[in-house]
Amino acid sequence: ATPTALLVGTGRGAQLGVLIKGPQVLESTRRVDTVVLDKTGTVTTGTMSLAEVLPVGDVTADDLLTTAAAVEHGSEHPVARAIVTAATDRGLPREPVRHFVNHGGKGVQGTVGGREVTIGRPELLDEHSIAQPQAVTAARTAAESTGRTAVLVAWDGTARGVLVLADAVKPTSAEAITELRALGLTPILLTGDNIATARTVADQVGIENVIAEVLPAGKLDVVKQLQDEGKVVAMVGDGVNDAAALAQADLGLAMGTGTDVAIEAGDITLVRGDLRTVATAIRLSRRTLGTIR
Ligand code: ADP
Ligand code: MG
Repeated sequence: ATPTALLVGTGRGAQLGVLIKGPQVLESTRRVDTVVLDKTGTVTTGTMSLAEVLPVGDVTADDLLTTAAAVEHGSEHPVARAIVTAATDRGLPREPVRHFVNHGGKGVQGTVGGREVTIGRPELLDEHSIAQPQAVTAARTAAESTGRTAVLVAWDGTARGVLVLADAVKPTSAEAITELRALGLTPILLTGDNIATARTVADQVGIENVIAEVLPAGKLDVVKQLQDEGKVVAMVGDGVNDAAALAQADLGLAMGTGTDVAIEAGDITLVRGDLRTVATAIRLSRRTLGTIR
């Protein structure tokens, strides 16, 4: 491959909103056959909003939200931002938190007033032997069946309610998936979120293969396993939890709207966070290398 043609390719990429770390990246781009896509912030906008506050028993909605927001102040996750924003918008008091712990991909814990609070996925509550009353589980599964993300809020040994978060699919995502298919690539949706929510998003954009409820460390293993099966894998992601998988993939594409850690781990940055530029990058490399050979 002549270095000049490759440099022209990377220059053209920059014009198209695709920042390529070096000319050699175009080589691996050309061979890709599988595209693994993170859900939150990649296929969806990642700007979650609080859709419902569902307290159970004698807890009030304001109490549930105030307590949850106190702990979520310590987290930068889209779920946490939505909860904090909603509490602020409702004029709820900001309570201090002590002993904050972030359980990546599962939730958070902290002490608010006299309460030991846990917020997150059902597994996190199980791990700490926190009871999940039937009413809480029913509210959670109902929310998840509509494609929303539900997190449990618990204190002092029992789940006290559910916070339901809505995240919209980006307007360009469905078209982006159609373009990837047209290039002969297989898209796979990969997420730490629950399977019902993941499927709903996948259906909206036309993805058949879904791998859900994967912990941050597990994303790396999914990429490795696909590579062991002989696939040449592109990974597209935006979060801290995607960084290891982006580095492991044959081609890592980071959303320019995402975290610095993801951008550093990737080979290509999609400047505008528009998923259609994944296809642009692959077309560009095929064309560039096509002219060389
Ligand atoms: P994704 O792969 O879609 O980016 P993550 O792996 O970041 O998702 O998170 C997976 C799940 O863990 C979330 O859907 C949520 O249920 C839970 N979770 C993560 N962080 C938090 C948090 N700060 N508060 C509550 N729940 C959280
Ligand atoms: Mg993400």
